[in-house]
Amino acid sequence: MAKTSQDFIQLEHEYGAHNYHPLPAVLKKGRGVYLWDVEGKRYFDFLSAYSAVNQGHCHPKIVKALRKQAKKLTLTSRAFYNDSLGKFEKFITGMLGYDKVLPMNTGAEGVETALKLCRKWAYEKRGIPENEAIIIACENNFHGRTITVVSISTDPTSYKGFGPYTPGFKIIPYNNLPELEKALKNPYVAGFLVEPIQGEAGVYVPDDGYLKGAFDLCKKHNVLFIADEVQTGLCRTGKMLACDHEGVRPDILILGKALSGGVMPVSAVLADDEIMLCIKPGEHGSTFGGNPLACKVSIAALKVLQDENLAANAERLGKIFRNEMKKLEKEHEMVEIVRGKGLLNAVVIKPKNNKTAWDVCIALKENGLLAKPTHDHIIRFAPPLIITEDQLMEAVEIIYDTLKQFK
Ligand code: PMP
Repeated sequence: MAKTSQDFIQLEHEYGAHNYHPLPAVLKKGRGVYLWDVEGKRYFDFLSAYSAVNQGHCHPKIVKALRKQAKKLTLTSRAFYNDSLGKFEKFITGMLGYDKVLPMNTGAEGVETALKLCRKWAYEKRGIPENEAIIIACENNFHGRTITVVSISTDPTSYKGFGPYTPGFKIIPYNNLPELEKALKNPYVAGFLVEPIQGEAGVYVPDDGYLKGAFDLCKKHNVLFIADEVQTGLCRTGKMLACDHEGVRPDILILGKALSGGVMPVSAVLADDEIMLCIKPGEHGSTFGGNPLACKVSIAALKVLQDENLAANAERLGKIFRNEMKKLEKEHEMVEIVRGKGLLNAVVIKPKNNKTAWDVCIALKENGLLAKPTHDHIIRFAPPLIITEDQLMEAVEIIYDTLKQFK
């Protein structure tokens, strides 16, 4: 008997850990900007798996690369060489302008890798006494879910109940250069870890000049500027990297998510030799990191970003989207503020008659658009970057009509 959405929701509830609270959409197919549920209803995807699907669902060129390589060789581990890894390494370092890359799988692993690299560099190159290095991070950050990464979280949902926490971090307010300057006075500070836009926190875009100012301060104190571009990178904000908006080249760059176009977990850390070669054989790695399948998928995913000019599309359509949403700021009492860059945007919702951002997302779903609230009152809108202007305007129409239901 054909199973309904409710059956699948029940199945997950009964047999899966309850570590997520999904919107009740049970999806079975994706293509481009669209998703379909098990009842056959079609939706615009305005989450893009937290920006992993920048290239659109099941992009034919990425799937082709996956299928071709899957028949040949998927995993050797790094115990041996393979004929895909070097090609990927050359391609991505050439494209992004770094000496070296270290491939991993998930975003959180990428962040862990960057933190390890920074500490190793601190001891080997900066002469900071062993075990004394400090890395500065920002309030309201989101860098993943490992013990060390939640140790630097200021969100109790992320960290509470998971102590004891990893030491060696200093937390300062985001978008605040004087506080950064103050923290940098500690001679044991080795790195500054920052999201160019705080995505999970609710798409907080820092003031113009913040990233450049922070980078310059780091240089002044011989501290590594570490950019977590897992969500903001790879064309999402209208440039290849969000740091490109301010001409900043991070000392350590962390990428994930769209590095595979959402086909499989691929993350990567990029840096120059002075930093990257501080890690020696056996000191870091991952069984699946740099596997041939991931390498071929990732080259294809990166080529799609370039060939389809997805940065330019995100830049242009992002402006149109924000303009449309700004009209709602004036017209609708539930729409408090609209903010974002490129196609990473958020609408802050003021609850009305007990109706919250969750209720708006449920209504959006009913009307054919999937988005997810973050922190109860913020809805992030981040469609695949291959979206056309017509599709975007159709989606804007859905958002308008949905909000009308709450008037
Ligand atoms: N860093 C940032 C900025 C992120 O947005 C995320 C995921 N939302 C991560 C790291 C963690 O990535 P993953 O879930 O792949 O571990």
